[in-house]
Amino acid sequence: MRILITGGAGFLGSHLCDRLLGEGHEVICMDNFFTGRKRNVLHLMENPLFELMRHDVTDPFKLEVDQIYNLACPASPVHYQHNPIKTIKTSVMGAINCLGSGKRVGARVFQASTSEVYGDPDPSVHPQPESYWGNVNPIGIRSCYDEGKRAAETLFMDYHRQNGVDIRIARIFNTYGPRMCPDDGRVVSNFIVQALQGKDITVYGEGQQTRSFCYCDDLIDGFVSLMNQEAVIGPMNIGNPGEFTILELAQKVIAQTGSHSKIIHEALPQDDPKQRQPDITQAQKVLGWEPTITLDEGLKPTIAYFDKVLSEGS
Ligand code: NAD
Ligand code: UDP
Repeated sequence: MRILITGGAGFLGSHLCDRLLGEGHEVICMDNFFTGRKRNVLHLMENPLFELMRHDVTDPFKLEVDQIYNLACPASPVHYQHNPIKTIKTSVMGAINCLGSGKRVGARVFQASTSEVYGDPDPSVHPQPESYWGNVNPIGIRSCYDEGKRAAETLFMDYHRQNGVDIRIARIFNTYGPRMCPDDGRVVSNFIVQALQGKDITVYGEGQQTRSFCYCDDLIDGFVSLMNQEAVIGPMNIGNPGEFTILELAQKVIAQTGSHSKIIHEALPQDDPKQRQPDITQAQKVLGWEPTITLDEGLKPTIAYFDKVLSEGS
């Protein structure tokens, strides 16, 4: 197949490029390089099945493809809050452009949605199943991302119902691994970089808020498996149910890096979700998928990656 990946030079997009090329597909990687980097796909440049295209997903495009994975959107709170209007435009107009392409050429279109559609979940709904409508502040500093992704899901469902576009929607929970941007502000990259540099580890608030961390290889398996089955269109939670407090994560990173960094506490950002854990029953039943890599295992190659990047000074 010929497959378009928007946001293909980012953290997850570049792993998806590797995976699909490895399966023998042609891959068009579209990116505007806002948070993505050429170095993530440099190793693919000589591959005749790979094509890198600098393009902004908010601008229309015409491509003859069989499948589209729509990953274009900054994912870290620091990056998506940098230019919130651009963030919501990317989600909404990016979805419209991908779905319009899918409609025109009959391609299946996959949306990289997020656990942020659940917002700050009600404690009585834990873990979060796909049937939960969420608790999202529509006017807060996270809404450009949360509401953008929610509107994108609406567009996907309406293009499917109204125009018969073939869609798949994955709701991704916090995913980490090699090729995350060292300075993108997300917790795993922040803590590892701080630990490796001997700087203070910045835990926001008391560190009792939780997240469930999925290693990138597990997530990509879930993506490809959801995209290529016929039973359901989603939305489907894809994540690792292993739930940790942010303080526990900090302690794991310190232990694995052998760092002498000390933990300091900084202000908790506005609307920061207090707890989050995926209910993956649907993925287990429909795809036979579940994560295989624990946080302790996944941190090792991630730390090794950042160690290399920092020592190269890149
Ligand atoms: P990332 O920031 O590394 O990747 C996003 C990519 O999209 C980058 O390459 C960026 O340059 C590109 N991009 C941004 N705006 C664009 C635009 N207007 N036009 C073209 N390209 C654009 O983040 P990631 O972690 O790889 O996330 C990929 C996708 O998965 C995102 O849609 C994100 O919302 C979703 N997601 C990720 C996580 C996670 O934990 N990693 C969790 C939930 C959802
Ligand atoms: N966080 C933290 N220190 C950091 C970066 C993040 O304590 O240096 C916290 C943040 O407040 C949140 C959690 O870690 O509670 C996950 O943050 P991240 O930005 O990685 O993802 P998201 O909030 O989108 O899940």
